[in-house]
Amino acid sequence: MTETIVIAEIAKGAVHPTTAELVTAAHALGGQPVVVVPCSDPSIADAAAGIAGVSRVIAAKSNVFEHYDAAGWASALDAVTPAGTIVAAATSQSKDLAARLAARRGISVVQDVVKIDGNNLTSPIYSGKAMQTVSLSGDAILTVRPNVFAASSGDGGSDVAVVDTTGDMATAVQEFMARATERLDVAEANIVISGGRGMGSPDNFVHLEAIADTIGAAVGASRAAVDTWDDIPHAMQVGQTGKMVNPNLYIAVGISGAIQHLAGMRSSKYIVAINKDADAPIFQHADYGIVATWEEALPVLQSAFASMMG
Ligand SMILES: Cc1cc2nc3c(=O)[nH]c(=O)nc-3n(C[C@H](O)[C@H](O)[C@H](O)COP(=O)(O)OP(=O)(O)OC[C@H]3O[C@@H](n4cnc5c(N)ncnc54)[C@H](O)[C@@H]3O)c2cc1C
Repeated sequence: MTETIVIAEIAKGAVHPTTAELVTAAHALGGQPVVVVPCSDPSIADAAAGIAGVSRVIAAKSNVFEHYDAAGWASALDAVTPAGTIVAAATSQSKDLAARLAARRGISVVQDVVKIDGNNLTSPIYSGKAMQTVSLSGDAILTVRPNVFAASSGDGGSDVAVVDTTGDMATAVQEFMARATERLDVAEANIVISGGRGMGSPDNFVHLEAIADTIGAAVGASRAAVDTWDDIPHAMQVGQTGKMVNPNLYIAVGISGAIQHLAGMRSSKYIVAINKDADAPIFQHADYGIVATWEEALPVLQSAFASMMG
């Protein structure tokens, strides 16, 4: 009998809350899912065991899970993950992993699913210009866009089985050096304020950071900003070749609204655009538009937010 399996989303060595959304998505496919937790310390799997609606948890324990590497993770997970349909998060890391696992198992992969109706899965295509619905006929791997499915509640209490695994690994990443940042990740934030080439200089991103600090937002960027300025890292990029974000509020500042940028943020609940060009395409997708330079608009926004936040 095949099962429905959730691969827990791991961030900073812990089970990310998105995992509870994956459990809801797995339920939409039918059945109580098994949750597989990639870990080097099995105690982190307790967080997955606490999610309601989980049949059991497999803590897949290996040193390979200390740092992400697609080949090593896919090999080690493949060795312990039961046969069936697998649900993972549509983050950059897990989309990469899903493709590897699908190739190893010879099954289909459907990325960035936003709706599940029985065996029918809906996901955006052509940079979000259209939606496609595909029907599953057999085991598959799907990645589910964060913040779309409601999170399953945290009052579960399933058993955790710890299984040592390494798979048939050829390489493992020993060390990972990330640029130190205290800032929220755009893919996880409820509010994102992004700057584009219209910011004129990377130094001007301090104005976005000031607003972000006031309202608890993450700071993102367009690809033009990332490509033009070394100080704006790719981790901040929103869009087709950057991160997909789905916040409650997305504020685009000095961003034209190219289709590839829209692909990463158009599903945000509310979009606010600040652009000096009234004809900028971003205004066609914005709920609220401010036709002004950022130099004029941001100080006004900043003081309004500051007084709102008390
Ligand atoms: C295969 C491919 C993948 C891509 N992937 C991505 C992606 O993931 N993410 C992404 O963002 N792009 C992506 N792009 C690039 C995309 O096509 C655009 O080039 C890019 O989004 C433009 O960025 P921008 O809006 O910041 O810059 P611009 O197009 O240069 O726009 C700048 C905007 O700022 C406004 N402006 C200027 N000065 C001010 C001011 N003082 N105050 C207010 N507004 C001002 C201008 O009116 C203009 O609208 C991709 C392109 C390709 C071909």
